[in-house]
Amino acid sequence: MAIRSIRTLGDPVLRKVSKEVKEITPKITKLIDDMLDTMYEEEGVGLAAPQVGMLKRIVVIDIGDGPIILINPVIIATEGEQTGFEGCLSVPGKSGTVTRPNKVTVRAFDENMDEFELTGTELLARAICHECEHLDGIVYVDKVEGRLYDNEELEEMEEE
Ligand code: ZN
Repeated sequence: MAIRSIRTLGDPVLRKVSKEVKEITPKITKLIDDMLDTMYEEEGVGLAAPQVGMLKRIVVIDIGDGPIILINPVIIATEGEQTGFEGCLSVPGKSGTVTRPNKVTVRAFDENMDEFELTGTELLARAICHECEHLDGIVYVDKVEGRLYDNEELEEMEEE
């Protein structure tokens, strides 16, 4: 178990394209374990390997239903649309509005390199899109409609 430090916007590693994972080595297993620990510690719903400085196509997600590990994920189908606030551990304290598909099917490999498909809607669909984009150097701020908000500002807006 180890918490890794999260790279924040402006770090060039977040803008690079990650490489496919060819096989599960002890190093990859450790990276996945550390990514899960880091995501839970930081209370995120997802984390991609480049966010901890590793250019590997690995994503972890937990929207509250248990951990999902996606290795070499490819989105193979999308449906519908949702527009809502989104945040990112690499852009701390901020949120912005992003439109995403409402339903997403992703094909990926698990931590044993067994291939599987997963379909998610709403928050899970949003998380899959957001995290997979990190693997191609895309950060959600690129897609924000309007401006970025400080989370404190949003809390005040909700109270009014
Ligand atoms: Zn992110």
